[in-house]
Amino acid sequence: MASLGERAAVDEDGAVGRLRGPVLGLDIGGTKLAAGVVAPDGEVRGFVVAPAHAERGPDDGLARLFELGRRALADAGVGEEEIEGVGIGCGGPLDSSRGVLIAPLHLAGWTNVPVVELASEAFGRPAVLDNDATAGAAAEHRFGAGRGTQNMVYLTISTGVGGGVVIDGVLHRGASGNGGELGHVTVDWHGRECRGCGRRGCLEAYASGTSIAERAREAGLDVEGAADVAAAAAGGEPVAARVWDETCEALACGITSIANLFEPEVVVLGGGVVRTGEQLLGPVRRAVTEQAIGPHVKIVAAALGDAVGVAGAAAIAYERLAAG
Ligand SMILES: [Zn+2]
Repeated sequence: MASLGERAAVDEDGAVGRLRGPVLGLDIGGTKLAAGVVAPDGEVRGFVVAPAHAERGPDDGLARLFELGRRALADAGVGEEEIEGVGIGCGGPLDSSRGVLIAPLHLAGWTNVPVVELASEAFGRPAVLDNDATAGAAAEHRFGAGRGTQNMVYLTISTGVGGGVVIDGVLHRGASGNGGELGHVTVDWHGRECRGCGRRGCLEAYASGTSIAERAREAGLDVEGAADVAAAAAGGEPVAARVWDETCEALACGITSIANLFEPEVVVLGGGVVRTGEQLLGPVRRAVTEQAIGPHVKIVAAALGDAVGVAGAAAIAYERLAAG
């Protein structure tokens, strides 16, 4: 099997392996659905977003997702027959090899949904499914801040914390596509309860936007979200500054363990919390450099913006469809 790194090479005609056409990327989030047409060089056209209304169930949700896909194709001026295939990203647990959503944590009631088969029928093209954070890692590796690297770790830090790992040029999936759950690396085994998995002291229980705001409120601050905590900390408010420091320490602790496991050339951080830029990246970089066993761990912000989910779904489609 060729590696993702090798396949990431786009030839002079702009083709990925034997794939020359665009692919349709579909992203199923807990609050939003998104679609876009993605070229082999990562250019996203016809990007469209709609509310997920996940509580209405999978039949309604997928009908609207596929309609969104058709709109993206129409907006991009691309016919269904022109696309190489359809890539779908969604939160787990899912089975990427069978193309089935098992019971995604953010989509209550969406159990055992054969989304690949349904997308294939809807568009008359092959389809593939992967975990959305794995897809985000594929997008940053193929099109973004991890381009050209062989070993890369990607963490997305927003409502929760997700991740993906590229090892020796190959995107790591695990036995059924749920590997690389980096948000559930333990940073304090007697620590806070993790909303995502129910264990204690996960990285997600400290570094997620949800937890940052929650810990600030527990400490007596009147804040809506993580951005408020970051702003107050930057303004010198001592309680916010303590919560922010703890966040950076927890993140650095998690990244150090992850870096010691994989010795990546680069750690790419994406998601809403990373919009705070150097306020987060600076302290984390310093702490990881001090603590990690390997000599150099480069920590950078993600290069892809809001369309990362769609670009990721497309990146996994290019990878897996090119592999045949
Ligand atoms: Zn957890």
